[in-house]
Amino acid sequence: MDESSSARNKLQAELLYAVKGLKAQVVNQDSLSVGMEWKKGFQSIKKVKADFSNKEDMLKKVCQGMANCQLCPLGKTRQNLVFGDGNPHAQIVFVGEAPGADEDEQGLPFVGRAGQLLTDIIVKGMKLQRKDVYICNILKCRPPGNRNPLPNEISTCEPFLKKQLQIISPKIICALGTFAAQTLLKTDIPISALRGRFHSYEGIKLMPTYHPAYLLRNPSAKKPVWEDVQMIMKEVPV
Ligand code: URA
Repeated sequence: MDESSSARNKLQAELLYAVKGLKAQVVNQDSLSVGMEWKKGFQSIKKVKADFSNKEDMLKKVCQGMANCQLCPLGKTRQNLVFGDGNPHAQIVFVGEAPGADEDEQGLPFVGRAGQLLTDIIVKGMKLQRKDVYICNILKCRPPGNRNPLPNEISTCEPFLKKQLQIISPKIICALGTFAAQTLLKTDIPISALRGRFHSYEGIKLMPTYHPAYLLRNPSAKKPVWEDVQMIMKEVPV
């Protein structure tokens, strides 16, 4: 190789390195662009970022960072923010839509009727305990009257969920219902067409399935959910 092509190769390598660095910064800035409150929470968790043995503390920091969140109007109407619950080291994370009345009252996800059905799926179906898995929602605050989440509420809240999932880094995500599946997969394909096979969310296997509240209204959908759950269980044997 002559001197000029070696210099050119070196320059190319340096440029590539610089571009990669810039991309990394853009990704970081992106996660930071949802307001000061989030920035503070994010800054504090950055300090413990590499310590994956300390997932519990990291989740606590994210939770504390958004404890008084007023980034969207749901901050004004909620009783309690519902951050998430379960094992920070879980291999399976269930992601629902948004807290309902019971969850808003107790500050915990899936504790109402739909929650009881989810618990049955976990305990009776999967032979696990709720404390073995992690459960959270796309929105951390209850939409009044249990209306559907609005696009701006989803986009405002999503970075917190993203961080939660990054920290837990589970083997499988189970997206419960249309909003969870479509938000995480960035698609508007209906849940009926998404379910039944694994998709990928940031390198993590994601199984969309019907929401437990839908199962309460449509018991015949329990069969496909059971098929989806069995596929999850094959990936994460107990
Ligand atoms: N429905 C959800 O999507 N999440 C809950 O936490 C409760 C009901």
